[in-house]
Amino acid sequence: MPEGDTVYLAAARLRTALVGKTLTRSDFRVPRYATLDLRGSRVDSVGSYGKHLFVRTERVSIHTHLKMEGTWRIYRPGQRWTKPGFTARLILATDDAEAVGFSLGLVEVLPLADEHTAVDHLGPDLLGPNWDAAEAVRRLRADSKRPIGLALLDQTVMAGVGNIFRSEICFAERVHPATPVGDVPDLPGLVDAAHRILEHAAHHPPRPAMVYGRQRQPCRRCGSMLLVRMFGPDAASATATERGIYFCPRCQPAPETPEPRAARRTGH
Ligand SMILES: [Zn+2]
Repeated sequence: MPEGDTVYLAAARLRTALVGKTLTRSDFRVPRYATLDLRGSRVDSVGSYGKHLFVRTERVSIHTHLKMEGTWRIYRPGQRWTKPGFTARLILATDDAEAVGFSLGLVEVLPLADEHTAVDHLGPDLLGPNWDAAEAVRRLRADSKRPIGLALLDQTVMAGVGNIFRSEICFAERVHPATPVGDVPDLPGLVDAAHRILEHAAHHPPRPAMVYGRQRQPCRRCGSMLLVRMFGPDAASATATERGIYFCPRCQPAPETPEPRAARRTGH
């Protein structure tokens, strides 16, 4: 699942390829916009918010979301595509570039004035110019019983975290992913870690994951064998290696739960 940094970087590449240029071709390969033709429109800006991406012309904003499999590629005119053509959902071409959105999970065209409706429900954007850590903490605390490993994926809390970084954030803060939000010792610290990790991913070359994808390998901190577990609604429907959350059982001890045997003993 692409995360905020992937979308942020895709927006940067699309900006370089399209902004200030006139579209010589648009091809919406989604039924709703099959007849829409933006040829002759100039691209004014490209932006992202969380995992949402916007390509704006004078009149409309093309809103796309990568969802699970989506990706943007930029080609020179006539260059052979590196992804199957039938997976292309949107093609935006200029005189010297062809931007192709493959397997996009969402394509919609909004009047510029309505663009905000696509993101109004989202929490602060971890990579946005108006990142607001205090607001993200406030939104997290609103549901204090929810496991932190699930809350981090909730884009209405803060926008941009996906499967990889929720594991990395919990590990960085030494918090077990099943810990209820209300029991996380330093919630502002955890939100800062989320911001730091996303910012690093958006502005630096990739670095190896500390825990994600490393089940049964040794923890880089303590050497214990890392685990992967499913949480919440994903548990029954997806494979643990893709959708699971990875953690170190020693660095991230499980939250305390009532111990039935101990309770019985004190009853005597
Ligand atoms: Zn460890």
